[in-house]
Amino acid sequence: MPPRLLAVLTAPSRDTPGAAPTGPVFRMADVDHPVLNALDLGVTRGDGVFETISIGSGRAQATEPHLGRLARSAAMLEMPEPDLDAWRETVYALAEQLRDVPEAFAKLVYTRGVEGQDRPTGWVFAEASPDHAATRRDGIRVTVLDRGYAHDVVSTAPWLLQGAKTLSYAVNRAAVREAHRRGSDDVLFVSSDGFLLEGPTANLVLKRGDRLTTPATSLGILAGTTQADAFSFARSRGLTTSYEVLTRDALEDADALWLLSSVRHAAPIRAVDGVPKSVDAAFTADLNAFLVGRRD
Ligand code: PLP
Repeated sequence: MPPRLLAVLTAPSRDTPGAAPTGPVFRMADVDHPVLNALDLGVTRGDGVFETISIGSGRAQATEPHLGRLARSAAMLEMPEPDLDAWRETVYALAEQLRDVPEAFAKLVYTRGVEGQDRPTGWVFAEASPDHAATRRDGIRVTVLDRGYAHDVVSTAPWLLQGAKTLSYAVNRAAVREAHRRGSDDVLFVSSDGFLLEGPTANLVLKRGDRLTTPATSLGILAGTTQADAFSFARSRGLTTSYEVLTRDALEDADALWLLSSVRHAAPIRAVDGVPKSVDAAFTADLNAFLVGRRD
C-alpha cells in the first residue's frame, strides 16, 4: 500500500505570531487521527485557500505556479502571506516519499486559523492518485450550468472572490451533483450573461483547427496550471494558443474540448448537455503523456 502522508506546517506564514525562525518546517502527523482544532475557521467558515499539486514518481509538478496561486488566493482573502519556502520544502519532502508511486498528489490547505488566535493553520496531505486512465481515454459528459454571476463579477463584486481557490467549494460540489442528476459526469459553468467560464475543478480548453483557446481569467476563473502547461505543449507542436471571451457558440464551433486540471489532467469532453462531441483521441493521448511526465 502506498503511504498516505500528512504534514502540519510549524509556521505556514512568516507573519505568524511566535513563529520559530529556526527548527523543523513541518511535523508529520497520523492521517487517521484528528489534528485540527474544531474552531479552525477553515472548517467552520470555509475561510482559507488550497492547492492540489500532481506528483509524478516523486516529483511535484508545476510547483511554482501552484505556490504563486496559493499566495495570490491568500492575498485576495487578506490572509497573512504564506511562507512559500516552508510550503515548498514540505511538498518536496512528501513527494519524495511517494517516489515509487507513478501518479500521486499533494493537497495544500492554508486556513485563517482558530477563531480569535490570529495564527493561520497549514497542512499538506499526499497520497496516490485515483486511476484516471479510463476518463482520459473515453472522456466525460458535461452539463452546462449557470454560475449565477455576470462575466464582469471580478470588478463589480470582488468580495465574491471569483478567481481565488478558496476552501468554499460546497457550491462546486452541489453543481457536480446536479450534473449527475442530469446524466453527466461534470459541469461547465457559464456566466449569467452567457459566457463560457470553467468547470468546478478544471479549466475549459477548446481546439479549433490549429488553435487552442481557453476563457480569459478576467472572467473570474482560476488561472490553471495544467492549462498553462498544455498551452506550452501545444506551442511546441506548432499550434497557436489564446485567452478569449467566448460565448456558448464556441462549443459548437470547436473540433475538440477538454476539462484540464491537476491529477486528472486532460479529460476530453465527449458530450455537452447530451449532445455528442468528437474526441481528438491522438492529441489527447499525447497531451496526457506530456502532462503525466512533467517534472519540475
Ligand atoms: N478551475 C477551478 C475552479 C479549479 O478548482 C481548478 C483546480 O482545482 C482548476 C480550474 C484547474 O487548475 P489546475 O490546472 O491548476 O489544477
